Amino acid sequence: MIEYYYFFGVSITDIRIGDKLVMKKVHPCGNNIFTVLRIGMDFRISCDKCKREIMLPRKKVEKGIKKIIRDGETL
Ligand SMILES: [Zn+2]
Repeated sequence: MIEYYYFFGVSITDIRIGDKLVMKKVHPCGNNIFTVLRIGMDFRISCDKCKREIMLPRKKVEKGIKKIIRDGETL
């Protein structure tokens, strides 16, 4: 069964490479905005402040997103 997680009317399946994700969890460097580098079972995202890359299971991304920013606009 496929579960879709909706927030602000947007499904996680709408996330594209290059989108910025505002996450509930704050990176140790104090930033909570990440850029999407790869999408799949695992998501690869990079911290916008320290540029460190993180691999996150899809589930964690689904649960951790506050909002998606694309081209400077909140989806
Ligand atoms: Zn960071």
